[in-house]
Amino acid sequence: MSADLIDGKAIAAALRESIAGAVSSLSASHGVKPALAVVLVGEDPASQVYVRNKGIATEKAGMTSIEHRLPADAAQDDVVALVRSLNADNDVDGILVQLPLPDHINSALVINEIDPSKDVDGLTEVNAGRLMLGKDGLVPCTPQGSVILAKTVRESLSGLHAVVVGRSILVGKPLAMLLLAENCTVTMAHSRTKDLAATCREADIVCAAVGRPRLIKGDWIKEGATVIDVGINRVEEGGKSRLVGDVDFDAAKARAGAITPVPGGVGPMTIACLLKNTVIAAARRRGLPVPEITVK
Ligand code: NAD
Repeated sequence: MSADLIDGKAIAAALRESIAGAVSSLSASHGVKPALAVVLVGEDPASQVYVRNKGIATEKAGMTSIEHRLPADAAQDDVVALVRSLNADNDVDGILVQLPLPDHINSALVINEIDPSKDVDGLTEVNAGRLMLGKDGLVPCTPQGSVILAKTVRESLSGLHAVVVGRSILVGKPLAMLLLAENCTVTMAHSRTKDLAATCREADIVCAAVGRPRLIKGDWIKEGATVIDVGINRVEEGGKSRLVGDVDFDAAKARAGAITPVPGGVGPMTIACLLKNTVIAAARRRGLPVPEITVK
């Protein structure tokens, strides 16, 4: 058996097309052009690439992209003051503070300064709480994208056993909440889990969000399971640098029913869901109906 490939690149492109349609309809019916403001502190090269790509994708979807850069030695109060000014700016619909922030800045404090109605990363306490309570809010992008991918290969997730490996605030915990909302039976595994192999073997859906190259072995995957690999790890192999996931892709592919590749799986969905959240924020802040955004 060889698994179907879940083509995150193509699915993200379809989602971005639907988002662009939603932006045009907001603009045509209400004269609204959603705007996303990204705050970058410091010169981290990976963060600079992410911010540039987010800006390009935002403009391509027909929205306004705003970038604010602060030096690496910016004081925490300066970052908070910038976030507060973006909260107060009525032309800004979404605010994203690029992580990681420099060590001298308390990230949790800065994130929690973001107006929850503009928190397009879904990381404020209000949005995390809303997700926990099953209320409408802004949902973290990577977990949201992961569930969309799983739903492209499963008619319904209801009743399936999902194992989420990793319990971070950014990915593992919100992903578990979203799968619970889809009526999965959810197991959260992490670094202290006693027998990770046996836990994964129980799963109809394995979601790996750990940050350890090929931690999940092929024989940990149940025949026909859906594998969503969130991990992005750079490894040096055969004198070359390449990206691999948290799942041993080649071995898992032989047993899984469907699997996401790395790169080209969850990664592209993250930016697409950020754009989706910006449209949702723009509509909700004005009391307008949220235009339909789907993956056809
Ligand atoms: P994190 O370091 O915050 O959390 C890692 C989690 O893995 C922890 O909860 C820890 O308990 C668990 N863990 C660590 N070692 C383990 C082990 N041996 N067995 C089981 N669990 C273990 O990381 P994160 O921010 O959640 O990111 C996880 C991965 O996802 C990273 O590779 C990151 O680069 C990637 N990521 C990808 C995207 C994307 O857009 N595709 C977005 C965010 C993160």
